[in-house]
Amino acid sequence: MTISGMAKLAGVMGWPVGHSRSPRLHGYWLAHYGIDGAYVPLAVKPENLAQALRALPVLGFAGCNITLPHKVPALAALDEVTDQARRIGAVNTVVVQAGRLVGSNTDAPGFLESLQADAPGWRAEVGPAVMLGAGGAARAVAIALLDAGVPRLTVCNRSFARAEGLAHDLGDRAQAAPWSAAEAALADAALLVNATSLGMQGQPSLPLDLARLPAEAVVNDLVYSPLQTGLLAAARARGNPAVDGLGMLLHQAVPGFAAWFGRRPAVTAELRAAVLRTLQD
Ligand code: NAP
Repeated sequence: MTISGMAKLAGVMGWPVGHSRSPRLHGYWLAHYGIDGAYVPLAVKPENLAQALRALPVLGFAGCNITLPHKVPALAALDEVTDQARRIGAVNTVVVQAGRLVGSNTDAPGFLESLQADAPGWRAEVGPAVMLGAGGAARAVAIALLDAGVPRLTVCNRSFARAEGLAHDLGDRAQAAPWSAAEAALADAALLVNATSLGMQGQPSLPLDLARLPAEAVVNDLVYSPLQTGLLAAARARGNPAVDGLGMLLHQAVPGFAAWFGRRPAVTAELRAAVLRTLQD
């Protein structure tokens, strides 16, 4: 659709930014809701990040998403950062509020929304969670789960020291386990999350035997390309509820769109299909 001189503006700031799916995702919602607005890629070199962020209110932008490599350095360049984003240690959404730059991290709520939408029977309190991975996505997932009330979270990571560091930051309800202990940790799990890059297109598959996982435990893979990973196929084959990574990708975009364009967008089957087509491009 065409835009007017009054169009609301937002975008995604990264370097490089050409790979980002966000312009198409937000573009879908702008067209779907007939909103007078534009969401554009903002290619910003690391050394220009603070200056580019400061330019947002000057240029009349309502805000932007922040992607690699700016998610951590952006913390220091904003006027205000939500408590959860500070604990995650990364910002992915900036909203201009009365000229001030307010940062948040929508990966954590996006992960939870996706889990609740695609595994409606899951509740945080029902039992322990096991998470594979200790990188950026894992940190957001862990904080989302603990904030939601998961009684115990086991973090398994190839580099054990990184799992220990994350578990230490997370507090009493989190514990680190070596990578080799992942299968044993599944025995009383109500939720298994893969937050490693294993299983992603071009990466090795995740070598994990689910034999000890309880039949009702939910398996959530953050990988969305391919949509059906080896882990999810194995989970489905033995009857475990399975949640793919596309839901998180879509749900994490909702709060930003709502803040910038004034309408809370829906995550629908049609949107999933449209974004899936772009992933296959
Ligand atoms: P990251 O910070 O680079 O972390 C990568 C993680 O994968 C680390 O825990 C790393 O372990 C582990 N890993 C990598 N290669 C491995 C191997 N060969 N064997 C065992 N572990 C290995 O990446 P990230 O940003 O957290 O992303 C992780 C995954 O989540 C990616 O697949 C990404 O696409 C996905 N993701 C999805 C969404 C979504 O919206 N669905 C959002 C964010 C991320 P070490 O610490 O030992 O290196």
